Amino acid sequence: MLNLVLFGPPGAGKGTQSHNLIEEYNLVHLSTGDILRNEITNGTKLGLEAKNLMDAGILVPDEVVIGMISNKLDSHKNAPGFIFDGFPRTVAQAEALNGLLKSKGSEISSMIALEVDNQELLNRLLLRGQKSGRPDDANLEIIARRIEEYNGKTAVVADYYKKQDKFCRIDGMGNIDEIFLSIKKVISDL
Ligand code: AMP
Repeated sequence: MLNLVLFGPPGAGKGTQSHNLIEEYNLVHLSTGDILRNEITNGTKLGLEAKNLMDAGILVPDEVVIGMISNKLDSHKNAPGFIFDGFPRTVAQAEALNGLLKSKGSEISSMIALEVDNQELLNRLLLRGQKSGRPDDANLEIIARRIEEYNGKTAVVADYYKKQDKFCRIDGMGNIDEIFLSIKKVISDL
């Protein structure tokens, strides 16, 4: 199986590159942000509980997203592999993912980290907010909160994969096609 963690701060291009990867490698895309937004659209209990945290730019509890990922893994038993986008965002989530994959005789192949400078992240998120109307992209205060959550809780997840020699850094500043080529090179070297 090819199991990739696409990593990086909000606005790094994880969603965009996930879509390229799905087409090229036929992987199942698991974005916890998308799953949560879907729950909100469907008005589920989980969605209602997550909405306030998401709109404020705060991470939802680990057990909520771990449960969601566990269900998705179970419902795609024959998948050739997964792209984890926006997950894991804490070390506890990374450990849980490790256990879930292990119980299926599998593991993460690589963490691909997209690196983008702060000013570019802000520009991209504000632009996305204007286009998509996503409430958490709409104002600078919430964006700052999300970047704070990333720096405080998520950035350390890279160390978890570095220790396992699975961490790979990609320059996320260029154009979308060039970045995708760099990602494909990493995958072909795995
Ligand atoms: P995203 O679309 O990945 O930027 O996620 C949007 C929001 O959903 C985040 O700011 C969090 O509130 C929540 N969220 C998404 N994925 C996770 C996760 N793995 N752990 C905790 N919260 C998450």
